[in-house]
Amino acid sequence: MFYTYPGGKQKALTFSYDDGQVFDRKLVEIFNRNGLKATFHLNSGRLDKSGHHGDFVDSEEIAKLYAGHEVACHGVLHQDPLLLSEQELLWEYSKDRLTLEKYSGQFVQGLSYAYGRYNDTTKRVAKAVGLKYSRTVNSTHDFRVPADFLEWNPTCHHADERLMELGRNLIDSPPHRMMPLMYVWGHSYEFNRDDNWGIIEEFCELMKGREDIWYATNVEICNYVNAIRSLEISMDQKRIYNPTATAVWVRNDVGETIVCEPGKITVVKD
Ligand SMILES: [Zn+2]
Repeated sequence: MFYTYPGGKQKALTFSYDDGQVFDRKLVEIFNRNGLKATFHLNSGRLDKSGHHGDFVDSEEIAKLYAGHEVACHGVLHQDPLLLSEQELLWEYSKDRLTLEKYSGQFVQGLSYAYGRYNDTTKRVAKAVGLKYSRTVNSTHDFRVPADFLEWNPTCHHADERLMELGRNLIDSPPHRMMPLMYVWGHSYEFNRDDNWGIIEEFCELMKGREDIWYATNVEICNYVNAIRSLEISMDQKRIYNPTATAVWVRNDVGETIVCEPGKITVVKD
């Protein structure tokens, strides 16, 4: 018996884009056209303003622009988390959640660390304000689900020379108990600055429409993996109790896909 992603899918792909600049509009259109899902980490204190990489998105467009994707925190003012007192950090994350929930209408529960900077204090404060995960900028070049969601290392940046190779590796990888996950991150302004929108167009074209890949936002993956980690299993491993609100899919030893419904005990026959 082993776990799969929802629907019995064997692999997952997610994206994470920081800073919430107007180039997100074009990026969202590319993701939507290809049926892919992403998370957008915004700085609520910079909405409706201009920055040196370009304008930030308007507060009033957030709900519609990011519909079907995830809106998440990146700190109110994009301050270096390691230069802040605990009190300032608390404000930087909690005010961000409050404002982004107001404009997006979503339940905002994700974070990426500004400048990729974090320590035990940033992790503790993020958790204290209800943030379930936070992305770093440490590329792993692998497909492993994180040990600690508050220190979620992505697979690679979109400009990584190995992007396409890694995408093809995900597609070609056989079903695996470790639930392969590819996680790509970046900033949409980089495509504009470096005039390389072709990178993401080509990558999305390669990855789209695959029946064995779950296209999910960051928080959907976090919630799903946390649900797996919360399952209670009988000692003979034939019964699974799912105490969470998220259905979990397993595959038994004869290849059948079984759903463990929330709040129920499921018998897994082999
Ligand atoms: Zn940033």
